[in-house]
Amino acid sequence: MKFDLIIKNGLVILENGEQNVEVGVKDGKIAAIGHDLGEATKVIDAENQIVSPGMVDAHVHITEPGGGYRDGWEGYETGTKAAAKGGVTSFIEMPLNQVPATTDKASIEVKFEAGKDELAVDVASYGGLVPYNLNGGIQELDEAGVIGYKAFIATCGDRSIEGDFQDVDDYSLYEGMKQIAKTGKILSIHSENAAITDRLGQIAKENGETTLSAYVDTRPVFTEVEPIRKIILFAKETGCRVHIVHVACEEGVDEVVKAQQAGVDITCETCTHYLYFYKEELDDIGPVVKCSPPIREKSRLEGMWNRVLNGDIGFVTSDHSPCTPDLKATDNAFEAWGGIAGLQNNVDVLYDEGVQKRNMTLKRFAEIIATEPAKRFGMYDKGSIEIGKDADFVFIKPDSPYTLTEADLEYRNKMSPYLGREIGAQVTRTILRGQEIYNQETGVADIRSGRFINY
Ligand SMILES: [Zn+2]
Repeated sequence: MKFDLIIKNGLVILENGEQNVEVGVKDGKIAAIGHDLGEATKVIDAENQIVSPGMVDAHVHITEPGGGYRDGWEGYETGTKAAAKGGVTSFIEMPLNQVPATTDKASIEVKFEAGKDELAVDVASYGGLVPYNLNGGIQELDEAGVIGYKAFIATCGDRSIEGDFQDVDDYSLYEGMKQIAKTGKILSIHSENAAITDRLGQIAKENGETTLSAYVDTRPVFTEVEPIRKIILFAKETGCRVHIVHVACEEGVDEVVKAQQAGVDITCETCTHYLYFYKEELDDIGPVVKCSPPIREKSRLEGMWNRVLNGDIGFVTSDHSPCTPDLKATDNAFEAWGGIAGLQNNVDVLYDEGVQKRNMTLKRFAEIIATEPAKRFGMYDKGSIEIGKDADFVFIKPDSPYTLTEADLEYRNKMSPYLGREIGAQVTRTILRGQEIYNQETGVADIRSGRFINY
């Protein structure tokens, strides 16, 4: 066979670990793995590079369309370019922040139209579970091909904007889970107690608190753990498969693991920023690092890392959730928008912090960035370097520190809490279904070969 592409001389992360092998690509798929594969139209020399499956980032917010309210926020073109540059070959996009929120057939079609011919990487879409889409919306989204559903237990959305996202009350969570159980898809949930975090935040604000550190204190660990317990109970009752997004504390992870052991179909993720930043430095960084659940104490970092290394935390996401700069331009942490731009710095930061600093195996690295999210959400063409899968790769140059600058960022708004940080590894090339979409020398290719993936 003459291949379209052969990748040579790289250290390739296969399902059972890394090997020095060649990978042959034909028609966008991985067609051969071995030695001396023969001829190809194009040969890429990956000497001194790690060849990993492209990242599958299961948690990304693209705010397009903004509906006249959030028009300057992240778009499909800039968001997917940043993904390409960061080694993310596919991501799962969230149903909120864009206006209208993705809650039925009409609103998901608006989104597909907004991203048409704009995508640099592949995009799967979440549908929302909100109190107002229980009369057919869930079923319409299933038919439209959503990969799963997202709900908020934590206050969410702007009630003054028609069609904005909303958090669930207990009844709509219960009823929605019954409906989602019938689709066989997964419900992913933002888990924080709304009443307590809202009230503690209001009291702190009234008391004149303005720091990020004070903000963290208004969202204590138990307010994250309590709704996880409720979700587990509801999952047992309804049979709905569930996933807890962005768990930020060890206690939350441990609840999920106990439920798994009791036979509940539940998983959890954490985000790169919960494995990197810590509470004691937040006020030096500023509102760009504000998110919820909040980034917690330094003393918790290694506990979270241990749970990534041992598999209790299934995988890691960016929860890329940027806004416009004006919404971060305040000295009052309680008034700043909560959300971190991180899509472009998952692969390099996790490689440096995990593999280089904490001896994570390359096999586990590939699992947390690609294999596990792809498996959990049924993205069977993605997630590992195996014959028959999509030829999606990221090349990583290890032990090559660089300092992130604004000019590096592909985001629509050039904000990131990682700016000025030295990161000890670099993404040098990204390949989507056999096509080079990013090269460190030439930048992001303007071929827009990404697709919406329907399930
Ligand atoms: Zn999110």
